[in-house]
Amino acid sequence: QFPFGRRLPCDIYWHGVSFHDNNIFSGQVNKFPGMMETVRKITLSRAMRTMQDLFPHEYNFYPRSWILPEELPLFVSEVRRMKDSDPSWKPTFIVKPDGGCQGDGIYLIKDPSDIRLTGNIQSRPAVVQEYICKPLLVDKLKFDIRLYVLLKSLEPLEIYIAKDGLSRFCTEPYQEPSLKNLHQVFMHLTNYSLNIHSGNFIHSDSVNTGSKRTFSSILCRLSSRGADVKKLWSDIISLVIKTIIALTPELKVYYQSDIPAGKPGPTCFQILGFDILLMKNLKPMLLEVNANPSMRIEHEQELSPGVFEIVPSPVDEEVKVAVIRDTLRLVDPQKKKRKDTHFDTFFPASYHVIYNIEKKNDLQGPSQANPSVVLSCRCQSLEQMLEANEELPDAGSAVRPELDTPKNPEAALPSLCLKQVFPKYAKQFSYLRLVDRVAALFIRFLGVKGTTKLGPTGFRTFIRNCKLSNSNFSMAAVDILYIDITRRWNSMGIDHKESGNPGMCLQAFVEAFFCLAQRKYKSLPLHEQVESLIEFCECHLAALHGKRLVWGCG
Ligand code: ADP
Repeated sequence: QFPFGRRLPCDIYWHGVSFHDNNIFSGQVNKFPGMMETVRKITLSRAMRTMQDLFPHEYNFYPRSWILPEELPLFVSEVRRMKDSDPSWKPTFIVKPDGGCQGDGIYLIKDPSDIRLTGNIQSRPAVVQEYICKPLLVDKLKFDIRLYVLLKSLEPLEIYIAKDGLSRFCTEPYQEPSLKNLHQVFMHLTNYSLNIHSGNFIHSDSVNTGSKRTFSSILCRLSSRGADVKKLWSDIISLVIKTIIALTPELKVYYQSDIPAGKPGPTCFQILGFDILLMKNLKPMLLEVNANPSMRIEHEQELSPGVFEIVPSPVDEEVKVAVIRDTLRLVDPQKKKRKDTHFDTFFPASYHVIYNIEKKNDLQGPSQANPSVVLSCRCQSLEQMLEANEELPDAGSAVRPELDTPKNPEAALPSLCLKQVFPKYAKQFSYLRLVDRVAALFIRFLGVKGTTKLGPTGFRTFIRNCKLSNSNFSMAAVDILYIDITRRWNSMGIDHKESGNPGMCLQAFVEAFFCLAQRKYKSLPLHEQVESLIEFCECHLAALHGKRLVWGCG
């Protein structure tokens, strides 16, 4: 609690809904600035589209989506084209209002002409998405998975996934969508908030029956049927990492605007709720990301008509308490101090491991080795030990006896339910972080701290410093590009922190950057065009920075 009038800073601030800067200059806040805006349906769809343009194969876990109203003509023409090329394709689409939650305003359609244009589509933008018609069923029911993900830090990127989640069930047996059943929400929508009102909802004290179960209970069941559960987990981890990679560029723009680098400010972390649907073939598909997943551990039960009682929900409790407890363990400021001491204790043993690794790989001996290499090996070997420990049912004392002291309150706690996946798997995914690098260029030229939009002068400086203008691409053409793209993005009426500011937002800059990349490196695939242009810009900026340093010295 932060009583009104308190002056002393806190270690951890746990905000209810979003990041708000109550003059916080230190400590850690449980929300990132701009997270709510970044994971809204439209913004998420845009970020995923950008990544799908760059890496179509890697991002095929997000259903094809269009943004309404601006992409209605595109939606109509693309669906017509696909139907013409494959007459057997009988799609269904799901329309979801932007900013909606709990299934609010969602409906299914068979044809683009069924979009409800009456009412206020202009004032309520939406996403229309390909409906996944063949979900995996359990007990003939459709269900989705809510997974909790901790974004522990943005720079450097640190992601943890909870080892267990929730499975939320529909309450009517599933049938593939047809004109007859399109409106049956208890069959098609898995939202707890909707299905609780169906007479068929089953509250259960057990984690593997009823309308809300643990995800691990589903995995057990799948495993007993011979499914490759390990592969499923690794697909889910990959989906989570890729999604966060798609979100980080926008988050970084918000972050530098609310917490400018070099000034005292807090660091942030956030628990996110990932909603995932499993297809019949066990492929996980992302439905949405929730910035404020419900952490309730009880539910209402109707004792008699109109009389409700609040009762504990063992399934929610099992999953959510562990997530919050372990988030606090991971961000615990005291832990860092303990870990440092712990690290020193481990150093000689780890060093021995490195030495062996290096010898085995025929590298130079540890005394001549590059210190950064030695350090990373050392961290890895420590992590391997912790990882081994993590798998033990009773963690702590068996492998880390020195932790089992009264000084260490963690010794009495169960093993962590949060598994680090990034930077652990950074190597496999780093090549996807192209938009992150474009965002770094954008932020560099924003100029005035506290803004999220680039002015025309900033854009010109970017072009000039990166030497992107030449006889074929004059500064007048640069201005036209800026005006065209910026005007279009600002006319979309996006719910943005600075919607009144006429400048260029990150997504508009990314579009301009892709245009420039396509002009300059025509023959390459898009991701190579973009990567080449990033390298070109970074190189020129580094040279410029070098020159400035030399001049500064002179
Ligand atoms: P909300 O934020 O309103 O809950 P969601 O995007 O989570 O919106 O969608 C609500 C429900 O609709 C999901 O829980 C899922 O059951 C179903 N759903 C959403 N998108 C799809 C889709 N593309 N294919 C199949 N079912 C979907």
